[in-house]
Amino acid sequence: MKLNLSRRSEVRTLIMNGGECEPYLTCDDRLMRERAAKIVEGIRIIRHATGAAEVMVGIEDNKPEAIESMMAAAQGTEVRVVAVPAMYPMGSEKQLIQVLTGQEVPAGGRAADIGVLVHNVGTAYAVRDAIRFGRPLVSRIVTVSGGAVGAPGNLEVPIGTLASDLVRACGGLRGTPARLVLGGPMMGMQVSGLDVPIVKGSSGVLALTHAEVEQTQPGPCIRCSSCVRACPMGLLPLEMAARIRIGDPVGSVDWGLKDCIACGSCSYVCPAHIPLVHWFNHAKGELAARERLKLKNEATKRLADERNGRMERIAREREEAARQRAAKKAAAEAAKKAAAEAAKQAEEVA
Ligand code: SF4
Ligand code: SF4
Repeated sequence: MKLNLSRRSEVRTLIMNGGECEPYLTCDDRLMRERAAKIVEGIRIIRHATGAAEVMVGIEDNKPEAIESMMAAAQGTEVRVVAVPAMYPMGSEKQLIQVLTGQEVPAGGRAADIGVLVHNVGTAYAVRDAIRFGRPLVSRIVTVSGGAVGAPGNLEVPIGTLASDLVRACGGLRGTPARLVLGGPMMGMQVSGLDVPIVKGSSGVLALTHAEVEQTQPGPCIRCSSCVRACPMGLLPLEMAARIRIGDPVGSVDWGLKDCIACGSCSYVCPAHIPLVHWFNHAKGELAARERLKLKNEATKRLADERNGRMERIAREREEAARQRAAKKAAAEAAKKAAAEAAKQAEEVA
């Protein structure tokens, strides 16, 4: 779908995202270190497909081995490998675009609106396999980590593999983890069990210990504005949270809820331990549910209107057919009567 965007908007710059910024996750780092030539081949295929004039790979400067291997693989090609500051959330599309091009994606807009297309390095690797060998995306590299995992590591596994099997392959669990997460600790999804399958977007399976997870009761907001300073999107998390707290998620949209990238920086720095990002994700879910309901109601109303229109048309057509049948019958009876009268008159004359 993203590649198809280049058919609708002109793509001038193709950015490959190697900014794996979440703690614990290293699957892209290992991919870039070990399969750089294949990634560069995939990037060149994507560039050819999109017609982008410029192509850059942004990699955080805390991954020197990945930068080195990608630079070696990209030598002599149009692909430019750029080291970007290791700063959370550099792996977010909008932040990476800003650092690499100096351009800002407009609020509510897409990268394609400013002529930029961003893909992950893993996507380039998958594109290369798909185009060169006709191999669909049937596997991916997943980081299995966290203090509760026996032997953390990166595994390439078929899509659909259970997360519990991955943990078992990595030495199993050491004790009872305090938190299980699919994805990274900041933007990942907390789960209650590991009997869930790996999907295309599963970058990590984390089993975190109590020492790694701060579990403190949230307190009231002290309006310190730490969350405002931490927000990479320039939002006012405390204002958005205040609207959500009073049951007004729509009001939080006016404060930028739709531009929130759910990076969790605000929750991380909040001295009152308010789970801000969870509130924002919940509010986004509620708004999405309301939108779905609105669309469903509109679709139902449209179907009902169409049905009523159809029934009215059928009734009109039936009425018209009955009118024509009655007219035909009357005409036939009149003709019959006229013929009978004519015959009677002829008889009288005879
Ligand atoms: S960081 Fe926490 S306590 Fe400080 S203003 Fe933001 S929500 Fe309030
Ligand atoms: S999660 Fe918090 S810090 Fe991150 S974009 Fe949203 S409001 Fe800003």
